[in-house]
Amino acid sequence: MSVDPHACDDAQLADLLEGEPAYRVRQLRGWLQRGVDDPAEMTDLPAGLRERLAARLDPPARTLAHRVADEGRTHKLLLELGGRRDAEAGAPDEPGSPAPPAEAIEAVLMCYPRTDERAGRATVCVSTQAGCALGCPFCATGQAGFRRQLRVGEIVRQVTALQRRLADGTIDVPGVPDHVTNVVFMGMGEPLANADATVEAIRWLHDGERGLGLSARSITVSTVGLVPGIARLTDLGLPITLAVSLHAPDDALRDDLVPVNRQFGLDALLQACREHQEATGRRLTFEYILIDGVNAERAHAQRLARLLTRRDAPRVAHVNLIPMNPTPAVPWHAPPLRQQQEFAAVLQQAGLPATVRRNRGGDIDAPCGQLYAEQRLGSGRLLPAAQQAWERWPIQLEAKP
Ligand code: SAH
Ligand code: SF4
Repeated sequence: MSVDPHACDDAQLADLLEGEPAYRVRQLRGWLQRGVDDPAEMTDLPAGLRERLAARLDPPARTLAHRVADEGRTHKLLLELGGRRDAEAGAPDEPGSPAPPAEAIEAVLMCYPRTDERAGRATVCVSTQAGCALGCPFCATGQAGFRRQLRVGEIVRQVTALQRRLADGTIDVPGVPDHVTNVVFMGMGEPLANADATVEAIRWLHDGERGLGLSARSITVSTVGLVPGIARLTDLGLPITLAVSLHAPDDALRDDLVPVNRQFGLDALLQACREHQEATGRRLTFEYILIDGVNAERAHAQRLARLLTRRDAPRVAHVNLIPMNPTPAVPWHAPPLRQQQEFAAVLQQAGLPATVRRNRGGDIDAPCGQLYAEQRLGSGRLLPAAQQAWERWPIQLEAKP
């Protein structure tokens, strides 16, 4: 059995540390909070205990590579999660929960230096699944299919691995805090299709005692809108930011662009959004990818404006228009710039705060969902398209994979 320490409460950690003095729980927590997940590095624990923990805990996240782009403001870690003891244990029908198979996951840090108007921010984009089963046709992650769920600790470690590098100065950007300020669940996978781990990861990130103590408002979950999952977030009762990937103004088009829409439909989705807004007091963000000749005509903008200003619609904080990034094997692309701006203008005229998202540094700083398309196979071999994309990143730090 392999234990995910980030998913443990104090009593469970105390069980794990049976026979040890009570303060060991605090020591272990302290290491996890500082992003140290390898017992071998937990220097204030006795050697025997470190060995015992190494045999019991999920394997540490191994950094395969660290790449930098955008004049040092965007950092990408390629992390190997899971794996090691699964191979050692060798018996899949053993009781307990074997460590899941190895996956390489990219954790991305985007640094936004302080300006006269805004404090500096260090935002980490995390994945919740290796791959995704929902098959949205414009999304490279969706094309790659589903491989497995990430555990709580595997989600959280994407954040702590970067937090550790901010704290020790490995990543040092003028005007940017030395700790993570924001987390966006916009990487690979659908967070609400792994709702248990997502909810627990949010709790850990928010909890100042055992986790990072991030304010709920600085945590954003992006979802295609799995209605029961949104209800789980509503029940969580934290004023996190909910970002719903809408991509179409009516069910007919959305059924094609977001196939899971056939299960829930826009009416049920908007109702779940409204309930979330009423319970948390938070307005929602909507994301809408702009695809030329598919969903980006003036008539689509008008229909979207009507949908989001309906009397029963949730209150909208922001409509984020995302020009589609090219994806291997998909013939679609973004509409011309002028059309993107016209689309935004229709929404703005209806009183909706809408902006077109610009990618920093050209194609290097693609939306996170795209970055995560660059996946390693379980065998450790990079997909050919992924290899190319990964090598576009100019500066490499730390170890080469
Ligand atoms: N599954 C969740 C979160 C991950 S996707 C969701 O779909 O919301 C994160 C974001 O990347 C989503 O808004 C998604 O629409 C966007 N995305 C996916 N493929 C893209 C592409 N080819 N170009 C631009 N954005 C894309
Ligand atoms: Fe999955 Fe989101 Fe990609 Fe759709 S857009 S396939 S839900 S990751």
